[in-house]
Amino acid sequence: MSQRTGWNIASAVNVRNPILDALVDIDTTPKTDKPFISLALGDPTKNPLLQPHPDVVEAVASALRSGQFNGYGPHEGLSIARAAVAEYQNRQAAGRGVPGVNVKYETKDVTMANGASEALDIVISALCPPGSNILFPRPGFAYSVVTDARHIEDRYYNLVPEREWEVDLEQLESLIDGKTQAIVVTNPSNPCGSNYTVKHLLEIVEIAKRHFLPVITDEIYGDIVFDDQIFHPLASISTDVPVITIGGLAKRWLVPGWRIGWVAIHDPNDLLNVKKFDLRTILKDISQLSLAPSGFTQAALPTILNKTPPEFYTHVLNVLKENVALLMEKLGAIEGLKVVTPRGSLYLMVGIESTAFEDIKDEWDFVQKLVWEEAVFPVPGRCFRYDGYMRIVTATRKDHLEEACIRLKAFCDRHRRKV
Ligand SMILES: *Cc1c(COP(=O)(O)O)cnc(C)c1O
Repeated sequence: MSQRTGWNIASAVNVRNPILDALVDIDTTPKTDKPFISLALGDPTKNPLLQPHPDVVEAVASALRSGQFNGYGPHEGLSIARAAVAEYQNRQAAGRGVPGVNVKYETKDVTMANGASEALDIVISALCPPGSNILFPRPGFAYSVVTDARHIEDRYYNLVPEREWEVDLEQLESLIDGKTQAIVVTNPSNPCGSNYTVKHLLEIVEIAKRHFLPVITDEIYGDIVFDDQIFHPLASISTDVPVITIGGLAKRWLVPGWRIGWVAIHDPNDLLNVKKFDLRTILKDISQLSLAPSGFTQAALPTILNKTPPEFYTHVLNVLKENVALLMEKLGAIEGLKVVTPRGSLYLMVGIESTAFEDIKDEWDFVQKLVWEEAVFPVPGRCFRYDGYMRIVTATRKDHLEEACIRLKAFCDRHRRKV
């Protein structure tokens, strides 16, 4: 057998995160000494008004102090944590769906993971053999880190800004072939800020049903919706198509650093539990890669999910709503920008009409020049595979948003095409 002849080490994986790549590709050194304002990071904890509730922190601290969670736990997660997630998801779905659907998660339906990110990884890895394909939304979150790592093909269905970022159903269906394994839906959406109606969710599930595809629904922003909006968990509208829900603490409880996420399986007809394929067992097996999130954080879940005072959620929504109102008013008045009203999540998308400007090629160029000249940094749409828009984080401190709007206006006025 031939031997290695040198240090020619090769990697079989090339994981690209288009969002992080952009942070590298954009020169973030302003040519002004104005203080830098980032509108880019989807981390609410930078805002002093968006801090976790003290009861939530205490739940983790007391689990840690108890000394009961220092050892290894089951790799699919602690059963008290899985039961708490099941209870939470059941409550969230109650009364939100269509008649005839009874969402009733049990402990066995829940697998714990290190954040929604790992939850996505274990589900996608379980459902998609190498060489198969999976459908992601465009614009969308950086789901391709999973498919890159697992040698799965990523395909993108379009969301339509003029229709509140609903799915272009025809184009979605045209992507499906015999090797398609699942459809991923993000609702409410990062980066779009949309929140789908029951009618639209039913249309998506109808396509999944026609092609025998499970739906993976990323509901990390579940219940972060504004005003008269209602968040409808996708599981609550599916009578037969298997729906696999991804959730986690990061966004709604404002603790992305805690790395708690989960998978919950809604499969009324047991289609994911057949002779050679039992999704619950496969998820449990894959969980051996990381052996579940830290025990004491999991142990706090019954308190966090089911006992956080309702005022906390209202407070978070009020902070976001105020910021959204400010952005809608200030950015809406700037010629050349087109703000799409967000219905939920922590973001809003702003369209950039490059023809309105004299020397701006596209949204990428807009963001680069904005950073150089005004030290304001939103995420260019290209990072979500969607040119012509930029994403603004609405969880940003209000005083920073106010100042950013002033600078954005000055920037646009300076570059606007003269008529
Ligand atoms: C933030 C985010 C995640 C990742 O959440 P973690 O729990 O921090 O891993 C997953 N999906 C979407 C759409 C997100 O915005």
